[in-house]
Amino acid sequence: MSIERFDLVKESFGKKAVPAERPEKKISEYFGELVFDRKKMHKYLDSSTLKSLLECIEGGKPLDRKTADGVAEGMKEWAMEHHVTHVCHWFQPLTEGTAEKHDALIDYDGKGGVIETFDGKALAQQEPDASSFPSGGIRATFEARGYTAWDPTSPVFIQDDTLCIPTVFISYTGEALDYKTPLKKALKAVTEAALPICRLFDPSVSKVFSYLGWEQEYFLVDEALYAARTDLMITGRTLFGHISSKSQQLDDHYFGAIPSRVAAFMRDLEIAAHRLGIPLKTRHNEVAPNQFELAPIYGETNLSNDQNQIIMNLMDKIARKHGFVVLFHEKPFAGINGSGKHNNWSLGTDTGVQLLAPGKDAMGNLQFVTFFVNVLAAVQRHNGLLKASIASATNAHRLGANEAPPAIVSAFLGRTMTAVLRKLVELPSGTPIEIAGKKGQSVGLVEIPEIFIDNTDRNRTSPFAFTGNRFEFRAVGSPANCAGAMITLNAAVAEQLKDFKAAVDKELSAGKTTDIAIMDTLKPIIAEIIDVICFEGNGYTDAWKEEAARRGLDTETSVPEMFKQFTRPESVRMFTGTGVFSEKELEARNEVKWETYSKKIQIESSVMVRMAINHIIPAALTYKERLLEEVERHKSVFGSADECSAELSLIRTITDSVAEVYRKAGALRDAAVSAEKIEDAYTRAVAYQEIALLFDDLRRPIDLLEEVVDNKIWPLPKYRELLFIS
Ligand code: ADP
Ligand code: MG
Repeated sequence: MSIERFDLVKESFGKKAVPAERPEKKISEYFGELVFDRKKMHKYLDSSTLKSLLECIEGGKPLDRKTADGVAEGMKEWAMEHHVTHVCHWFQPLTEGTAEKHDALIDYDGKGGVIETFDGKALAQQEPDASSFPSGGIRATFEARGYTAWDPTSPVFIQDDTLCIPTVFISYTGEALDYKTPLKKALKAVTEAALPICRLFDPSVSKVFSYLGWEQEYFLVDEALYAARTDLMITGRTLFGHISSKSQQLDDHYFGAIPSRVAAFMRDLEIAAHRLGIPLKTRHNEVAPNQFELAPIYGETNLSNDQNQIIMNLMDKIARKHGFVVLFHEKPFAGINGSGKHNNWSLGTDTGVQLLAPGKDAMGNLQFVTFFVNVLAAVQRHNGLLKASIASATNAHRLGANEAPPAIVSAFLGRTMTAVLRKLVELPSGTPIEIAGKKGQSVGLVEIPEIFIDNTDRNRTSPFAFTGNRFEFRAVGSPANCAGAMITLNAAVAEQLKDFKAAVDKELSAGKTTDIAIMDTLKPIIAEIIDVICFEGNGYTDAWKEEAARRGLDTETSVPEMFKQFTRPESVRMFTGTGVFSEKELEARNEVKWETYSKKIQIESSVMVRMAINHIIPAALTYKERLLEEVERHKSVFGSADECSAELSLIRTITDSVAEVYRKAGALRDAAVSAEKIEDAYTRAVAYQEIALLFDDLRRPIDLLEEVVDNKIWPLPKYRELLFIS
């Protein structure tokens, strides 16, 4: 094994970049060519089918069989031109990642052969055996049926030889078994709640959109070295490993030159993404060595979330072509930064107004402040729930660990908006208000410049930061489905906007003008939030933890405990009131969350124990044996071992550490065996949380051995090799 590790390292180091594809065409010419988008609809559908389909997409009308057949016919023609042979319903179950079941597009032709077929039924609905997907007990396994149904608002796309149809995944009794269903409901709730408020400002608004722009962080490691690390392969992170002498302390990786093998990977990825209509825009090195980030141009939330799921699949595939494996884990390496997925989020209208950006005039700015304040109020009301929505066994390694995010949800406003809110709240009730913009007609009482956020006014320690025209929810983990966070955020804002509109209506019926009615409703809300959810300081300090508790913000640090947020009466009221989840679905989802939490830690503990016993101890003993022989030989030549103090001390260290590893591995195994016996999902998760605390105990003597044992004998690729080869 010792020789093998060196061979692997040598091989990886010498790898040359596989040249990336270089399309002859401009991006704009191949962008979206593998998506059945509007352009294809116009080309491949007859006019009545097109009209009905657009009514489904834009007006939310149900898809009838005749339309489905017509659409399927057109899609088939398009797919055949791309040499497609299979179709799959592509969905997002409650696991990480996506699921797909492929069917060949053939049927008997009645003459002993087959013909290509694809009809409306195959497009609209499929019944995958749902029993092996997590459901939290919604479906007992004997009634394993769930079904997938096409979401016409998500465009159909081609991957390799397969036509992929984005679908929702639902049980036969109607409960959602996926991320997409509740996300769509939350988006419907928030856009419908925002609409009447927008109409107070501009009656011509007829639709509101929720927007998401994600920033995906990831690590790349050489695939040969990856394969030699069981822990990386099975759990997605290193469970041992001594921190390398150089890691990120020089800050020389961030925005550094992109290594050529990585650049080739990025290029191929971008080409594939652009063909699939995913508007990838930004790519750069991240803070940690071998850590990178990519981001698209933001889009409608449901679509953008689909695209994030597609991108993660593409990254897995394309990385292999370049001899890499992508790590999405939130904390693959101890001691250096982990990976997140910032969710940039905003609302906008069909008239082109960004509701979280300063307006062009007084009313525009009042509209901006209205949405701004209501978002903050929703985040305050459900701060514990929002934290729960991003919590997981893996994200727990980031939460509260001195890198975004702290385990408390607060919002960062920046100097300008903090000053604006403070000023607004001081104004006596009923004051006619003018909030002037840059082009404000008069010197208003409160001024908001049109563009006011500069990059220095950023607080990296805040989990929820205002960045000029959007909020950036930074706490989302790198492997997560963005929907987890987006469902809660959009639903919470929907609830708040509904309450706000009702309160404004009351003021209006008392005869106030629109602006005064809005201001008078806003002011008490601002007073309630400005010194609670709004926090401009350093989110990593202990002082903030105390201060946050005093302010009544949720400071829970236990992940299994956080999940209970979902079934608190306030949360149930919010989710049922917005039509996003039933109470039964919330309970079932919590079961899934606790189960997943326990399983992840159970797998890690089992991998840790095996590696300790099968890899680490044998390597340490091999070196010990060699040292013992050395001492023995010395004695036979010089008559005494008195001069072998270094060897003897090494032998003692190894003996002690091996004993410690053996003991701690045993303790870990025993603890996991007892935890497995616990029936109740929550109680079992709590037991596994305790087990996770034992990991460091076992890791310590192993990392010590790594420092002591002959480098040539050490079986596992080291951090310096994993992190600096690209
Ligand atoms: P930074 O790292 O400075 O935060 P990036 O350019 O890496 O910025 O990513 C910003 C992300 O935010 C991009 O996906 C971008 O499209 C998205 N974004 C920009 N404006 C909005 C908006 N109004 N709503 C939602 N997302 C937005
Ligand atoms: Mg950002």
